[in-house]
Amino acid sequence: MVSIIEYSAEKKARNSYPYKIISPPMPSRCCQARMSRIGAIQVEGDNNRFYYKRCSRCGFTVREFVSTIDIDRLPGVGVSDWDRTDSWLDRIQREVQADIAA
Ligand SMILES: [Zn+2]
Repeated sequence: MVSIIEYSAEKKARNSYPYKIISPPMPSRCCQARMSRIGAIQVEGDNNRFYYKRCSRCGFTVREFVSTIDIDRLPGVGVSDWDRTDSWLDRIQREVQADIAA
């Protein structure tokens, strides 16, 4: 899968959408509240819809797949906000690792 995101710990975060986005390799706690969508929804292959979203503070960028958004809309079951942030960070981290490995 093609991604315009380059994860780099050395380079400064930069938003050159739609050509390239340089992002820190790890999400931070600032990200969950500050992520905002960049550009239009992309469609790739068979109904793979996603868009890029980027943290306005640290520049961390990740692809948000539309199916994952639907899952996020499900009501949380008795978890605190901090727990939710941790699991969100976990999930994003796994997605980034998968992207880097691809
Ligand atoms: Zn951030």
